[in-house]
Amino acid sequence: MIDRIRSLQSPDQPFDDRRRAMVDTQIMTRGIHAPLVLEAMSKVPRHLFVGSDAVERAYYDMALDIGMGQTISQPYMVAVMTELLGLNSTLRVLEIGTGSGYQAAILAEIVREVCTIERIESHTERARHRLNDLGYTNVRFRTADGSVGWAEEAPFDRILITAAAPDIPQPLIEQLTDGGIAVAPVGARHTQQLLKLQKSGGDIVREFYVPCLFVPLIGQYGWQE
Ligand code: SAM
Repeated sequence: MIDRIRSLQSPDQPFDDRRRAMVDTQIMTRGIHAPLVLEAMSKVPRHLFVGSDAVERAYYDMALDIGMGQTISQPYMVAVMTELLGLNSTLRVLEIGTGSGYQAAILAEIVREVCTIERIESHTERARHRLNDLGYTNVRFRTADGSVGWAEEAPFDRILITAAAPDIPQPLIEQLTDGGIAVAPVGARHTQQLLKLQKSGGDIVREFYVPCLFVPLIGQYGWQE
């Protein structure tokens, strides 16, 4: 298996083949089977979301540096979070932590509209240009502290936090529709678990999934810088 993965990641291999191999060997074999998630991850050109120094590693089974101390998440983690959101084409999604824009593109392949917030302006602008160049017209960008959400655009059917939070911030829970789902890496600053929170009537149901390690959510309802 290791040899197969290595040969599928050879530098001479076209990016389409590497992306197919990523989906086969890193995502399907780990139990992700939602067709919309697999389709989106087979389509979005991840190598266009990393710097030129990281293009050869774009389809490796790892998070990669995107500058300013931030990362594009490991493909498997993107797939798990996307699957946990239970998406369809009618939904509006809020993403906190635009980063490279890769996760926003995956969401935009599946849902009606994505609103994405990033606190570092240069990341917002780079992601905005990438998604624009790739023809996405259903993504709205904002540079701000996403830990307080985006009240003017609320409510959202789904909310995804792609940075590590002490817990899912209360303003975000308030900005979820009834029946809405929020997913976030939650826990201590250097070790977290994926949390799926579902709002239903007056009830909040919390379920924990895989362990993970994300860069911190910095802001009013996150960590101090
Ligand atoms: N989703 C990204 C992608 O597809 O490339 C990866 C996100 S990266 C792991 C986490 C991002 O969250 C970083 O770009 C970081 O600057 C951003 N971030 C941290 N705290 C934030 C906050 N309070 N509001 C908005 N973005 C925040």
